[in-house]
Amino acid sequence: MQYMSTRGNVSGVGFIDAFLMGLATDGGLLVPQQIPTVSAETLKAWSKLSYQELTLAILDLYTNNEIPADDLKKLVADSYATFRHPEVTPVTKLKDKLYLLELFHGPTFAFKDIALQFMGQLYTYVARTRNLKINILGATSGDTGASSIEGVRGKEGINICILHPHGKVSKVQELQMTTVAEDNVLNLSVHGNFDDCQRIIKDLFADLDFKANNNLCAINSINIVRIIAQTVYYFYAYFRVQEQEASGAEKISFSVPSGNFGDIFAGYLAKRMGLPVDRLIVATNANNILERFVDTGVYKPDNFRMTHSPSMDIQVASNFERYLYYVLGEDTAAIETIMNEFRKEGSLSVNEETLAKVRSEFGAYGVDNDECLDTIKRYESASGYILDPHSACGVAAAEQRGTGGVIVSLATAHPAKFDEAVQLTGIKQTFPAQIEALFNKPQSMKIVDGETSIIASELVEFFGSR
Ligand SMILES: *Cc1c(COP(=O)(O)O)cnc(C)c1O
Repeated sequence: MQYMSTRGNVSGVGFIDAFLMGLATDGGLLVPQQIPTVSAETLKAWSKLSYQELTLAILDLYTNNEIPADDLKKLVADSYATFRHPEVTPVTKLKDKLYLLELFHGPTFAFKDIALQFMGQLYTYVARTRNLKINILGATSGDTGASSIEGVRGKEGINICILHPHGKVSKVQELQMTTVAEDNVLNLSVHGNFDDCQRIIKDLFADLDFKANNNLCAINSINIVRIIAQTVYYFYAYFRVQEQEASGAEKISFSVPSGNFGDIFAGYLAKRMGLPVDRLIVATNANNILERFVDTGVYKPDNFRMTHSPSMDIQVASNFERYLYYVLGEDTAAIETIMNEFRKEGSLSVNEETLAKVRSEFGAYGVDNDECLDTIKRYESASGYILDPHSACGVAAAEQRGTGGVIVSLATAHPAKFDEAVQLTGIKQTFPAQIEALFNKPQSMKIVDGETSIIASELVEFFGSR
């Protein structure tokens, strides 16, 4: 298995090098040169595996034998030992034909832990075995930051700097990032929104000298390893639903609370690998660029809106290019052209034929603030289950864009992380002890202006001093 760039100027990259490269050096995103496929027999055999075993089986298709089996087994075991649920990502039934895939049982109570606990272990392993100094740089709308810091805090040979938009993440998200008292962690709280943070990161990674001089590595979902790790729970959920549906479900649909298109792209990859997926439903909030794309074929950022689901407050979905690559027939020249168009014009569009293809695979629905809160209230009063605002967007989209078949909606965060929104519904929740404890810890972060040059000098100072 080798990896190549969606823009065609990078290819033949191995697994660990792809992991370290993050964004492809030609500005594109890395994808597998060939998507591995699994047969019906393999699926059947996989249906009996534990989450960790399933992870190993899937990684085996992607890791190019670059990590000895025993080492990989230990990496995976250590990655999921930090989870509070023995199944890692359990599936619960919400109502007839609607299941919830709970992805929030990791250390920071959001789905990002699933990939980032593994990536933290992998960075540590690579730093040790290749004798490298690794400086991780990431931008977060809240959850990625907390998860990645948790994944590498205090680890030898690794430093991490996370940019978050100042005052635009939830209180618990901010506390999770800024109360980690470790010398290898720097939090920059940036004046601006998440798209500003993401743009700065992209600029810094695009400066190849800066990247090399500072040993920069990416933790954002531009990293292909994150996507691969996230395919696992689509398979896992499919198997659990098969067990629970009396007559089995031939194909199932997934509704995915989306921001950067990373999570749902993992679902698309799982489908391309052979998982019997019917539809993938892109659930967004009022920042609905993806919904508008599926409706019109035009991908164009609109005004930024703050919502109850801040981790989805994203205009430019960094993983979207990966999907474009596939829907445009793996034509790297076409990607080069269309992404240039996007850079110059600030928007891109696909033709009718391509749009029809998009619509045959994806449904999309944007959930506004009122509908989000209403969904939380309805499920709480019907079953006592408290959805967090992101998961509520997923469930609302599942209700609106279902096909009549079985749907699994992804629960991407624990409600305690977003109590600001839950409180507006009048529902009172009790916080898990780990979250309660955060409020008594001192915070450490530096507030900075959202300019690439300013961030660059902060990084040189921090990474240089370590
Ligand atoms: C990151 C995040 C999302 C969006 O996932 P993408 O991979 O960016 O599409 C949704 N919900 C929560 C809670 C998140 O942290």
